[in-house]
Amino acid sequence: MKLRPLLLAVVLLAPRVLFAWGFDGHRTVSQLALASLPQDFPAFVNQPANADRIAFLANVPDRWRNVDPWLDQVGGSWTDHYLDIEQLSEAGLDAHTVPSMRLDFVVAFAAGRAAHADKFPVVDPAKNVDHTREWAGFSPWAIAENFHKLQAAFGYLKAYQDLGGTPEEIANSQADVVYAMGILAHYTGDAAQPLHTTIHHDGWVGANPQGYTTQRGFHSWIDSGLIIKTHLTTADLVPRVIPAIPFVLGVRADQRDPVFVAAMDYLLATNALVEPLYQLEKAGKLGRGEQPVAPEGRAFIENQLLKGGAMLGSLWVTAWKTAPVDTYLRTELGKRQATAAAAKASSGKP
Ligand SMILES: [Zn+2]
Repeated sequence: MKLRPLLLAVVLLAPRVLFAWGFDGHRTVSQLALASLPQDFPAFVNQPANADRIAFLANVPDRWRNVDPWLDQVGGSWTDHYLDIEQLSEAGLDAHTVPSMRLDFVVAFAAGRAAHADKFPVVDPAKNVDHTREWAGFSPWAIAENFHKLQAAFGYLKAYQDLGGTPEEIANSQADVVYAMGILAHYTGDAAQPLHTTIHHDGWVGANPQGYTTQRGFHSWIDSGLIIKTHLTTADLVPRVIPAIPFVLGVRADQRDPVFVAAMDYLLATNALVEPLYQLEKAGKLGRGEQPVAPEGRAFIENQLLKGGAMLGSLWVTAWKTAPVDTYLRTELGKRQATAAAAKASSGKP
């Protein structure tokens, strides 16, 4: 993997900072994704200020989540950070066929949940003031929606570049690309953490024949405690960066959004690691308490950060390569160019 010299220098010169998935983990996923980009990707994103902005933005959805109760339910919200995938089948749905449009899914899930109410825990209204506990989560929908915002930003950037956009219009469009890349980074990073994909998100729940931990705090240990204890840095992982590979976005026979399907497949692959993660915990390999972190525990976290970076890089490249033609804006800019040319001609100035 050939790295862009500029980014490599930034990564290698950065101080050896400990990171946690909650903060520096998201930064790391975005930095690994930046390192995964092909040489011909628009260079402005890897300018140091923009690369740093993307890494900063990768944490912004957690800021929304932490401070604003009115954002909890939808949008840049609590429920966009996860999907308790087991709840889909409990509601009679299949992760491989659920609607890719969020509101279609909401309707289907609400109906399925009502029809199979016996399979769901009773929601205590006192603990549900933000009305989030009825929902399984929306992680792959959030990934797909933020992907399409990035795709649109690349589309209007190209329109301004091709059709006489002012330096300010081009700079604003580039800033929008950077913003959309950073927000997408958050949700993509979350879905690389197995405990963001399961009802067992903070200790095993329900039947537990294997005797996995039921202790609260397991989630935050994986999010941050374990990573701090392993002293991982972005620079440690950069040599193993997986090059970004664009998705092929063909029209699907089931009419679902192929980006959503890719996001769901990614989430399902992460979900397959839930039980192996609990097994590592049971075997004492995750460094909890006085235990050292075993090589298997360290490898697990490293691999998830690398996979998150690879998925994010692939989404970014796909959004760039498949940016839609912004027909409306292009028409308007064409008219503006024609008006300016006519004014110039009538003024007699060259
Ligand atoms: Zn999150």
